[in-house]
Amino acid sequence: MARGPNSFGGGKALVSALSPGSTIGILGGGQLGRMLAIAAAQLGYRCHIFSPEEDSVAAEVAAEFTCASYESINEVSAFAAQCEVITYEFENVPVEPLKRIADKILLRPGTRVLEIAQDRIAEKKFVGEHGGKTARFAEVPQEIRLSEAVSQVGIPAILKTNRMGYDGKGQLRINNENDLGNAWRRTGGQPLIAESLVEFDAEFSVLLVRSANGEVRYWESPKNTHDNGILSWSSLPAGPLIESQQAEARRLATSIAETLGYVGVFTCEFFATAAGPIFNEMAPRVHNSGHWTIEGSVTSQFENHIRAICGLPLGDTALTAERMEMENIIGDARERGMNALSEQDCHLHLYGKQESREGRKMGHSTRLYRESHG
Ligand code: AMP
Repeated sequence: MARGPNSFGGGKALVSALSPGSTIGILGGGQLGRMLAIAAAQLGYRCHIFSPEEDSVAAEVAAEFTCASYESINEVSAFAAQCEVITYEFENVPVEPLKRIADKILLRPGTRVLEIAQDRIAEKKFVGEHGGKTARFAEVPQEIRLSEAVSQVGIPAILKTNRMGYDGKGQLRINNENDLGNAWRRTGGQPLIAESLVEFDAEFSVLLVRSANGEVRYWESPKNTHDNGILSWSSLPAGPLIESQQAEARRLATSIAETLGYVGVFTCEFFATAAGPIFNEMAPRVHNSGHWTIEGSVTSQFENHIRAICGLPLGDTALTAERMEMENIIGDARERGMNALSEQDCHLHLYGKQESREGRKMGHSTRLYRESHG
């Protein structure tokens, strides 16, 4: 039988697993929420999506949908009262309304990691305190501080909005002094972070899941390839350089997750450089570079996230194939994506978005290469 709303009480440790039939609240209505809801349904849970956008691809596959502002305490409280546990698929959810009702909800992961992940400067400082290396960085609270900040980190540099940036949005490369001219306006006239441009050989992510009782499991770290700041490919094996840096990167991600008492899937992105792994950013959620785990791992990132937040045992994260590639279907590439249907051991996921736009993630395909298939 399903448990009553909030039966676990505010902030209390989950003493037993959430019964099948219980409702999981998901803040955010995009493709990550959609894939979480599909995994939850398989385990017998109901999902309630909360999103400010009417057009939600997660709501299409969920039992309940609230379309309201994240800022509305009343709406967020009413939503929370109908859920046994709440999670998020989007790290830019406003934190204040969640903190105001924190004693009435079981939120996994919690609000502290959201505060850190929403602020690139706070994130880099936090990682530094955990012994992680980051790009050199300087704060740019106002336009007048821009040139001083860039000279601190050196040119070439990269400017990023300190908050609300994702998929390379709100970023600008500075290749010479002249690029500083209209940089403040071009990045939206808001506080920035200036970062030194890291010379990396490859990019990779650490994908881990931490259970309610502190058990941690890892998926193999994929090599990630970006185009214009957007992930285009993730592949495995990731190659000797990434493999040699994986352990150090995992140690950092694990120590962060442990400090925060994190529950769920946690992702950290890294640059693999000659000087070792350099932390780029964290995502307190399931991640695009883990989509291959749906077919490429015994337990997907989506299922393990649901298991973790519901207090269930974690599933096996072993690989199911020797080699794999996940390719994002971005913009109007859906037709090309459909070709995946005629390939052997290639798995197509379309997110059900009605309208394709430049840079919009419409789906992905995962190609597996198993020895038995030659
Ligand atoms: P982000 O939104 O910070 O993940 O940046 C998107 C992508 O831009 C990264 O995956 C890198 O490919 C590139 N990038 C971001 N920051 C840097 C940096 N400091 N040095 C070199 N490349 C970067």
